[in-house]
Amino acid sequence: MIIYHKASDITDYIQALRKKGLSSGFVPTMGALHRGHLSLIEQSNLAHDITVCSIFVNPTQFNNKEDFNKYPITIEEDIRQLEESGCDILFLPDTDEIYPRDFKEKQYELGSLETRLEGAYRPGHFRGVCMVVERLLSITQTDTLYLGEKDFQQCMVVRHLIQTEKIPVQLIIAPTVREKNGLAMSSRNMRLNEHEKEIAKGIYDTLIEMRNDIQTTSPEVLIQRSTLQLTQLGFIVDYVAITDEQLNPVDTIGTNRIIGLIAATLQGVRLIDNLTLSPLN
Ligand code: AMP
Repeated sequence: MIIYHKASDITDYIQALRKKGLSSGFVPTMGALHRGHLSLIEQSNLAHDITVCSIFVNPTQFNNKEDFNKYPITIEEDIRQLEESGCDILFLPDTDEIYPRDFKEKQYELGSLETRLEGAYRPGHFRGVCMVVERLLSITQTDTLYLGEKDFQQCMVVRHLIQTEKIPVQLIIAPTVREKNGLAMSSRNMRLNEHEKEIAKGIYDTLIEMRNDIQTTSPEVLIQRSTLQLTQLGFIVDYVAITDEQLNPVDTIGTNRIIGLIAATLQGVRLIDNLTLSPLN
């Protein structure tokens, strides 16, 4: 695996590969890698000649300084895992490389995607996500971008960004990888002990219950019941939501896709997860 620190170096290298007719997939991450990240690398490996991963803890998407400061950094272990997974190129920039002095901050029109759910609880977060994704895509110029459905709203925001900014990249959204007990893998899980991880799986259990009951119980009742259940387990619940793909709340169940989304904090660690509630195929 080749490691690049400089934006211009990786751009030149990938351009040269493109000229040779090689295709490339890109997996942006903030490091502290786990099987969820590696599943994206594997998907890219299967579809492309070259897989590029980036590790960059993007300061502009953290609305909470403490969360940024506590974000786990395990770079040597990350490099080992990437080498083992067959990743070809790692982009490991510092902040100046992503946001050079002449970097022009843009405003993005994200509509309600920016104000609902994660957007409401993390003001400015999706603007930071758009800034870094647009910059990383312009540096790497890869054919396909791989994102995890675990961050459902982020996927919708990036899809919107690609469409509105006309970025020439294909977006693939990959399924959420979970621990054996159902807990969605997340770098933030590293901050939980084994006992807390057992409690944390309550988020997944709640989503499964929501899925089981969605045909017979109203979204309003499901949301109330789930919030109470999570609170009793010791979570501080930001939201339990039942929405369509555009994150609009739904109150009746039709044939369109419906998603259950939860954000809740356990022992100071904020966790998010989601599950398709309907239709089930
Ligand atoms: P992060 O390092 O948390 O910014 O995540 C980098 C990418 O990995 C994002 O596209 C995430 O959605 C994806 N990802 C994180 N956790 C998982 C998971 N458990 N399963 C699948 N993809 C994931």
